[in-house]
Amino acid sequence: MSQEYRGRIAPSPTGFLHLGHAMTFCAAQERACAAGGKLVLRIEDIDYARCRGEFRSAIIDDLHWFGVRWDEGPDIGGPYAPYVQSERRAFYLQALHQLREAGFAYPCTCSRKDVLSAAGAPHDENEEPIYPGICRNSRRDDHATSQPNWRFHVPDGEQLEFEDVRLGTQEAIAGRDFGDFIIWRRDDVPSYQLAVVVDDAAMRVTEVVRGEDLGLSTFRQLLLYRALELAPPRFFHTPLLRDATGQRLAKRNAALTLRALRAAGKIPADLRAAALAAIH
Ligand code: GLU
Repeated sequence: MSQEYRGRIAPSPTGFLHLGHAMTFCAAQERACAAGGKLVLRIEDIDYARCRGEFRSAIIDDLHWFGVRWDEGPDIGGPYAPYVQSERRAFYLQALHQLREAGFAYPCTCSRKDVLSAAGAPHDENEEPIYPGICRNSRRDDHATSQPNWRFHVPDGEQLEFEDVRLGTQEAIAGRDFGDFIIWRRDDVPSYQLAVVVDDAAMRVTEVVRGEDLGLSTFRQLLLYRALELAPPRFFHTPLLRDATGQRLAKRNAALTLRALRAAGKIPADLRAAALAAIH
């Protein structure tokens, strides 16, 4: 029997949704629909310093306006609730424990800057520098007085590969293209990488549709799946929206939030058609 298709959309309530998100979510919806499967909405709000309640309700509102529908989510429930990351801490702690026990994680006291960005997904512009491995051999006791960050020890030099549904074979080398990454911050917040893997696995997601700028993160996540002995989903990375000069349309472009487009009288069906045309 073939597995039921389960997709997900996973916005972070750090601002209003913009056209780039909407395009990716449209693709996710279309793929779930075409496969006769289900789409899950998960709110990724573990980065408490950057997330706000008002954005969470705006996301749901804007997605409804845009015409994106889901089968499970915080507003309608479902078999894998809760669908809000801030309510799923026990799952992440369990995974951290498992990684520590199995020797995949080590405590680290370095690099404030990397640490601060760890709970947000590293979209292109905020990819972290490769961690030089200073704390690799440290043990928990070495840091007994202060809370460490926990890093995942990547297998240096290993050639990693996955088959992207849209882009074909993708390759990276651990330790060269990315280094030991944070899985738990010293201020007691799980990282994006850990939370997203734990949730996609727990919610039985079979295909992840998201922006191409998270391509490198997919390799990190595949290492986590392997270490946690979980089966990874398939990945479909969507192209990033660019303006006429080839510049990426970033979140800060206020005119392209769904709010602004709605206020300007744009028709969702037209925007959706344009979004899907950009992907095919
Ligand atoms: N919450 C993440 C973001 O908004 C989702 C990334 C993903 O789809 O894995 O960037």
